[in-house]
Amino acid sequence: IANLLGGDAVDGLVATFRDVTEQRNLERQLSHRAYHDELTGLANRRALDRALLREWRRLQRSGTGFAVLAMDLDHFKDVNDRFGHPAGDQMLVQVAARLRRAAREVDLIARVGGEEFIVLVNVSSAQGAQIAAERLRVAVAAAPYALKDGLAPITISIGIALATQEDPAIADILERADQALYRAKREGRNRVCLEMDRSTDLHAARL
Ligand code: GH3
Ligand code: MG
Ligand code: MG
Repeated sequence: IANLLGGDAVDGLVATFRDVTEQRNLERQLSHRAYHDELTGLANRRALDRALLREWRRLQRSGTGFAVLAMDLDHFKDVNDRFGHPAGDQMLVQVAARLRRAAREVDLIARVGGEEFIVLVNVSSAQGAQIAAERLRVAVAAAPYALKDGLAPITISIGIALATQEDPAIADILERADQALYRAKREGRNRVCLEMDRSTDLHAARL
């Protein structure tokens, strides 16, 4: 600094002081916002993509399995129609809270669309994934939701795909989970469906 001041080009220096703690808090807030859904506080799509990549790499490296649960609320449009959009939002917040309570600490719960969620669970068998999914399904349907104009029930449909080391890409697993979800919808909703062709194979292989 002495050298700088000595030079002809520099007339003076302005020092900026800022509370470091405050800045850290702000940074923390911003990064929280980048990876969380504003309405529910769940993980957002970006956080999910990161977690998927991490789990994917771990699977390739060490064979640690995981399952993708694709979930969509049943006839959610009716809730909006009957109670209004804000009440629908209110329900989404409560659904998120129930999912959080029913999931394990290590599971990642992401809100990926209006009333669509994806949960990543660390399981090594189809059965483990089904138990986890069933717990989430029951938690959502267990009791009606207190909205500002009354009580409203809701259910959720869940499709499961199991990641394996043979999977060519992450997108593939998501696609299979979606297919299973569509099947859950078709078969009457409020149910868990496991991806088709792998279910028996996986069961046999891991028993
Ligand atoms: P399905 O059982 O086939 O899933 O029926 P659904 O009525 O849930 O239909 P779908 O999943 O296709 O559409 C979801 C509807 O949820 C569309 C929209 O009206 C509503 N929705 C989407 N995002 C939000 C949101 O953030 N807040 C609220 N309140 N409603 C939303
Ligand atoms: Mg939907
Ligand atoms: Mg829906």
